[in-house]
Amino acid sequence: MKRVWTKITFKLRDEQKEAFWMWLSEFQIAGAWEIDERTVVVYCWDPLPAPPPLVVGEWQEEKEEEEEWGQKWKKYFQTIWIDHDLAVRPPWEKKSGAPLEIVIYPAYAFGTGHHPTTRGCLQLMKKYFRENWSFLDLGTGSGILSILALKMGAKRVCAVDIDPLAIEEVGRNLQLNGLEVSHLELLRGELSVVQGRFDFIAANIGPYFHQEYLPEMSSHLEEKGMLLLSGFEVDDLSSVQRSIDEVGLSVLESLVLSSWVSVVCRR
Ligand code: SAH
Repeated sequence: MKRVWTKITFKLRDEQKEAFWMWLSEFQIAGAWEIDERTVVVYCWDPLPAPPPLVVGEWQEEKEEEEEWGQKWKKYFQTIWIDHDLAVRPPWEKKSGAPLEIVIYPAYAFGTGHHPTTRGCLQLMKKYFRENWSFLDLGTGSGILSILALKMGAKRVCAVDIDPLAIEEVGRNLQLNGLEVSHLELLRGELSVVQGRFDFIAANIGPYFHQEYLPEMSSHLEEKGMLLLSGFEVDDLSSVQRSIDEVGLSVLESLVLSSWVSVVCRR
């Protein structure tokens, strides 16, 4: 007998994303995807109880037969264009024809290009990163930013993550892009495992990380190097800005995409 999945589409209320994920973490689910800023699709075997009305505006429950799901989740990941010449695609989509194309297998690790923080990082890297620069990818996730750096002609790339699963996925994504693991230094751990200075450092992690690690990140920057920070919302900008000022860096450009901020700074 075929099993039947429950698929639930939630429409979140403004600024309730964090509360929603907290609520959802109480239950056994098979998968969940953020379709856009307000929409999350969840697959589970057993129906979930009604979500808190202050968090979810409306939701819709559907039933799906088992085999379909293996194919269906793929439709949520299509090629996305970050800029006129930069696209990110999952391996099952046809080549985009973009001069800069990144292939990412959407799995556990963060960094498919769909989230506004990753988009912001990709856009700013494309604008400021230069050939033959060295690049430190702090919190590499899927490896998406390292892959862009390699495709833009980086001379040295160091990708770091505390999560062993992310490290595995970077290997797979490098392969999908015709790159070899030997093209970068892939390190599991925190900033303390990193050696040397870099022309460009990216950290899409979060406001507390930036506040704590800005002095150390700045000590890994070459004299004229650039630091790209992301992973925080407009409400946290002033506290992150204070930490940036404290280490003597100044903001060159900040980009806000659906309330998520990415900033490039330098000395
Ligand atoms: N760079 C990717 C992924 C960002 S998600 C992108 O821009 O889309 C943030 C990543 O940082 C996660 O994979 C998480 O495991 C990692 N991370 C969190 N804290 C960290 C720390 N202290 N040191 C290194 N990596 C960290």
